[in-house]
Amino acid sequence: MKLLVILFLLVCVLVPCLAITSSKKEAGPQTVLILLGAPGAGKGTQAVRLSEKYGLPQIATGDLFRENLKNETEIGRKAKTYMEKGELVPDEVVLEMLFQRLSQKDCRKGYILDGVPRTIPQAEILQNYLTHSHADVTVLSLEVPDSMILERIAGRLSCEKCGAPYHLLASPPKKSGVCDRCNGPLIQRKDDTPEVIGERLKAFHLQTEPLKEYYQKKGHLVMIDGTVSKQETIAQIDKVLSTTPLFN
Ligand code: ADP
Ligand code: ZN
Repeated sequence: MKLLVILFLLVCVLVPCLAITSSKKEAGPQTVLILLGAPGAGKGTQAVRLSEKYGLPQIATGDLFRENLKNETEIGRKAKTYMEKGELVPDEVVLEMLFQRLSQKDCRKGYILDGVPRTIPQAEILQNYLTHSHADVTVLSLEVPDSMILERIAGRLSCEKCGAPYHLLASPPKKSGVCDRCNGPLIQRKDDTPEVIGERLKAFHLQTEPLKEYYQKKGHLVMIDGTVSKQETIAQIDKVLSTTPLFN
């Protein structure tokens, strides 16, 4: 009987531990790209493109929350009222959901963070994790003034299924109302109304903008002019990443 218990423990504890250790050895440094910017600055558009280009998963906390809302999970229930008002969801809820996602297998080589971190405490806790996983971090800050944000969000649509972003004028889908990537239906987000956008911009300036200084001090920050066309924004980002060894 004793022998059976020992054998059981060996299989349940030791084997997964060995697997984790050996996969960490293979993995090498992780490539982590963080996208900062006001709502509507173009983070989602760039994240989708860069995810396809570099084969790294896009982790958009806004999309994860919307998925949780749709599936009526505990996390969705906790986030709902904040999201409806355009306020930030409390850090502990964001971090619980984020680390659940980062522990999945497809994040082993790296990932693209779109919409997280959004507060200094989120950045600090994430930084601990990044240091432990020997991540090579690049932070791109998409700079767009508030006056431009409102007109951009007015025409914004996104795929209900995969979250891919579109704009009626600037980047329309090939077929009206249908996602180019997954054929899902395109919808306008509930929080894309002028009042809620105002609140989201306020939260951005107050709570998220200080992250620029935080990452600048670490030497991770690169400013990108997000007021130009999508193609010109892409060109700036690709130029920056072409000089970053892990992206080549
Ligand atoms: P945006 O277009 O404003 O960047 P997102 O789709 O990224 O919108 O997020 C939608 C909402 O989800 C936010 O207004 C906020 O309530 C919540 N949210 C998403 N990410 C975070 C985060 N990192 N911290 C706190 N709240 C978040
Ligand atoms: Zn889609």
